[in-house]
Amino acid sequence: MNILDYMGAYDYEQVVFCRDAGVGLRAIIAIHDTTLGPALGGIRMWPYATEEEALTDVLRLARAMTYKSAAAGLHLGGGKAVIMGDPQRDRNEALFLSFGRFVESLGGRYITTEDVGVTVRDLEWVSQETSHVTGLPIEAGSSGDPSPATAFGVYNGIRACCQEVYGTDSLKGLRIALQGVGKVGYHLAQHLREAGAMLTVADINEAAARRVKEELGIPVVPARDIYDVDCDIFSPCALGGVIHDETIPRLKAKIVAGAANNQLLEGRHGDELARRGILYAPDYVINGGGVINLALELTPAGYDEELAHSRLEGIYDTIQRVIARAKKEAISTARAADLQAEERIAAARRIKRLYLE
Ligand code: NAD
Repeated sequence: MNILDYMGAYDYEQVVFCRDAGVGLRAIIAIHDTTLGPALGGIRMWPYATEEEALTDVLRLARAMTYKSAAAGLHLGGGKAVIMGDPQRDRNEALFLSFGRFVESLGGRYITTEDVGVTVRDLEWVSQETSHVTGLPIEAGSSGDPSPATAFGVYNGIRACCQEVYGTDSLKGLRIALQGVGKVGYHLAQHLREAGAMLTVADINEAAARRVKEELGIPVVPARDIYDVDCDIFSPCALGGVIHDETIPRLKAKIVAGAANNQLLEGRHGDELARRGILYAPDYVINGGGVINLALELTPAGYDEELAHSRLEGIYDTIQRVIARAKKEAISTARAADLQAEERIAAARRIKRLYLE
């Protein structure tokens, strides 16, 4: 990849390669845009096969964070970090301490938190070396693991989609195929089941699938079969890139709405869903609950659970606004969300320039 050209094409500000041989750290921090505020985004720890794969992932994820914070009305920019390694095998204190020092070196331009493969405990290690961390344990006065907030936000977004497609936001009796029952998917399954939905789940991790089967009594199908499940809503809550030319024709659902980041393999797949009459809840809008929750930590008043709850309920309205714009302009919901986020950033960019002059 010609990195600077790629950065130019999508307007990235900064990419930092971090290496600490002593502890085996190989990480990349990408800062996409800080127009609206410091770049916030989690650390993903994953056994990437190649450096290029890790770089592609961190760049895509950082940009999605810019859009996510902009869509949620937050004063935050977009960034992300990846640590190359197997979270089961390579996680250790020294690695995260070292990573924390790299975060500190950015002087607050990048604020970190958790993502796939990283836990609150890892963040506690990071916080030994930098104060630019959110999502620390609740006992530390922080908002804790963002996954329950993300799940609650997704649940509200799904209800908004149902209101549009079925004329009611009750989920009673609706059939939902849920892909991935990890940190977010598990909590989402609980909300959906409580609301009376009929779930089918799949997870490549047998223990995660068994947990929902045993604890929540939800049927499990093999991971490869989840796209073929006869359902009203398909909810991707595993990894990104799952909506593409091969999977779209297999979907039976009228709604695609889930927590995973970067669900569309390419932008055109959002248009294809719209063309087929499938309502897509743009991923970074519906899964913004975690960052909405974290952002409250950064306010002068600090984290407030009640306020967080009402802001997360607000994802319902945000999704409705995106749908309304898509209908008005006869574009896909994915494009409508992008336009809304881009317009907010463009407006802030103008204000910032005036202020600085
Ligand atoms: P997680 O690692 O806890 O859970 C992901 C689950 O998906 C795991 O159980 C994994 O085994 C499973 N999985 C992976 N590939 C699969 C496949 N092909 N088929 C079925 N299952 C598969 O991660 P998480 O925190 O629950 O996040 C899930 C998704 O939501 C990710 O894309 C993440 O980036 C996104 N997200 C998470 C948050 C958050 O607050 N944690 C916020 C916004 C977005």
